[in-house]
Amino acid sequence: MSKVLAVLFKGGEYNTAKLLGSAENALGLRSFIESNGRTLFATADKEATLDEHIKDAEVIITTPFNPAYISKERIESAKNLKLLVTAGVGSDHIDLDYINKSGRKISVLEVTGSNTSSVAEHALLTILALVKNFIPAHKVATEELGWDIAKISRDAYDLEGKVVATIGAGRIGYKILERLAPFKPGELLYYDYQGLSPELEAKVGAKRIDTIEELVSKADIVTINAPLHAGTKGLVNKELLSKFKPGALLVNTARGAICDAQAVADAVKSGQLRGYGGDVWFPQPAPADHPWRSFTNKFGGGNAMTPHVSGANLDAQARYSLGVKNILTSYFTGKKDYRPQDIILLDGEYATKSYGNDKKVKDVK
Ligand code: NAP
Repeated sequence: MSKVLAVLFKGGEYNTAKLLGSAENALGLRSFIESNGRTLFATADKEATLDEHIKDAEVIITTPFNPAYISKERIESAKNLKLLVTAGVGSDHIDLDYINKSGRKISVLEVTGSNTSSVAEHALLTILALVKNFIPAHKVATEELGWDIAKISRDAYDLEGKVVATIGAGRIGYKILERLAPFKPGELLYYDYQGLSPELEAKVGAKRIDTIEELVSKADIVTINAPLHAGTKGLVNKELLSKFKPGALLVNTARGAICDAQAVADAVKSGQLRGYGGDVWFPQPAPADHPWRSFTNKFGGGNAMTPHVSGANLDAQARYSLGVKNILTSYFTGKKDYRPQDIILLDGEYATKSYGNDKKVKDVK
């Protein structure tokens, strides 16, 4: 019997039926998968158990939150592999180029849009946490007795009037712009390959900037909302950071590897950035000595990191579980009538511009 292998996050002692995204609950899809004549093996172990079960897997479901890195070697060992499904958005943990070049008819799909609002809200939360110096303030309130107002307010501001810029104005980037507009920012700027329509720009009052260097030099706050691909890996490095407005804030809920981790930590320590926040790392889990675990600015704040949870709350899990079910239904029935926006590779061929050609469905709704 063909096997579906699901590598998800561990529910452990917190597991309940609502935690659909856990390995224990397997997206709530066990009986659905078994009723389609497949066995399901679900695990949170991304190493030995994955390596053992990948060998005869026909379908592999993975998640960006506890990413199983589906390397060339693993794909080579998966002789029966036909379909990789990302339970969430962002399939950069899979060696897409290798699949594309291998000539194997393997498809890669993700559940586009499933956690767009979740991530946009988290990005806004992170921006506000940094602007308001919220995390050190919370520590003063709960861990210290000094009622030290000056300790917090010396590094706390308003969002109103600040220039905010997004690198990438797709689904998440645009939703962040929509959420920022009511805060009456000084300006909303974006950099993307394709411009938004005049209607979408006018709706949020956003302006396109031609180069990324110009964008970061104008912004008090920069948020990253582009996918990780060859053109964005290490994009925010020492050189680009030197072009940022001194004392700017940087928020990254897209992918950790878009930033040079050490360069970002150094920029916060030196004051070139006032703070950095996000919930994506490379690798995941991050090692104990990852520079983002410990950096602070000169005021002892400026660090608003979380462990890749923004797109994995219960609402998002319900949506991406349903999305995975829809993709599997399309695959099991042989129709392969997938939603175009979910397809990264179809039978080994790229279907998105960021990763390959220009057939991407541009949709920020
Ligand atoms: P999307 O709708 O495809 O939007 C991404 C936008 O970035 C597209 O307009 C794309 O342009 C643009 N882009 C690509 N490369 C760029 C570059 N070098 N500079 C500027 N813009 C660039 O994707 P999305 O749904 O907004 O998601 C964005 C990313 O967020 C995902 O790829 C994923 O990595 C991350 N994400 C994180 C979480 C989380 O839990 N933290 C959850 C969901 C998604 P083209 O369309 O022309 O390529």
